[in-house]
Amino acid sequence: MRPIPVTLVGVGKIARDQHLPAIAANPDFRLVAAVSRNAVVDGVANFTDFDRFLAEGPPSAVALCTPPAARLEMGLKAIAAGRDLLIEKPPAATLGEAETLAAAARDAGVTLFATWHSRFAPGVAPARNWAAGRRLRRVTITWKEDVRRWHPGQDWIWQPGGFGVFDPGINALSILTEVIPGPMHVQAARMEVPANAATPIGAELTLAGPGGVPVAAVFDWRQEGPQTWDIAIEADDGTLRLSMGGARLDIDGLPVEVGPEAEYPGIYRRFAELLARRASDADFAPLRLCADACLTGRQVTVEPFLP
Ligand code: NAP
Repeated sequence: MRPIPVTLVGVGKIARDQHLPAIAANPDFRLVAAVSRNAVVDGVANFTDFDRFLAEGPPSAVALCTPPAARLEMGLKAIAAGRDLLIEKPPAATLGEAETLAAAARDAGVTLFATWHSRFAPGVAPARNWAAGRRLRRVTITWKEDVRRWHPGQDWIWQPGGFGVFDPGINALSILTEVIPGPMHVQAARMEVPANAATPIGAELTLAGPGGVPVAAVFDWRQEGPQTWDIAIEADDGTLRLSMGGARLDIDGLPVEVGPEAEYPGIYRRFAELLARRASDADFAPLRLCADACLTGRQVTVEPFLP
């Protein structure tokens, strides 16, 4: 059916900032409903209860824009109802949950697209091409932002299953695992957890990338002023730097033209392709690295976070 009917579930910051405009701008999709306990989207059927939507709502694919801890239950219900499914990152609260979702989608024959929006940043594909076939020496990730600016009033990020600073950090890991695909392991990690939170506000990871290339990552949620989302890749014959979360690319200090930022338009283009092929795309490599950091890492308690 074209345009493909789609329902947004969880009408929070990312649904409003990115999903609504991306769906509106893509002629392959038509928003037919929204599910929210608190918000209403104009011009479509609105439901406050997800079960009721599944039972009575219009036929449509589902875009789950809820926090990760709510993903498994809603995702399994949507799949059981035969709905094709797009899920925000992180795909679930744990690797086990994500794998359960993927297996359920496979068994039910529905499309599952576990999105990583940062992989659609315009510098990422050129960076992957540059890195392919080069001898890499090291990778350095610096991902520092102000949690108050990007997660205003959100409590779930500090609760178990809320990911803390891994919520943005997993975006860096999604770029890393796309640009340098292959086996990757966490060797050490240190997480700083505020005394009044369950999840970290800062993290440092040491990883071994494909072929043993050393990767050092720093994630910090306490950066005020200019924000930093940088990945530097040093090879034998040059250095590539992705900045602004992959929106900018420099090679050996010279800027490379990569086109405009269009992460969420890219996500919905890809979702349309997957639906046309009845295929799924569910790569959990970034989630595995976060999980392994938590398994191998040391946690230290730091001063309480005051919103
Ligand atoms: P948010 O503003 O808190 O919105 C999430 C919405 O999900 C809430 O408004 C709530 O909407 C609904 N919801 C359903 N079950 C919930 C539960 N158990 N706890 C809390 N909310 C629940 O969060 P967000 O920033 O949009 O993030 C949502 C997802 O998008 C996360 O996985 C996040 O990593 C990802 N994401 C966020 C950003 C960003 O810049 N914030 C960027 C990219 C991706 P209703 O009131 O409508 O029910």
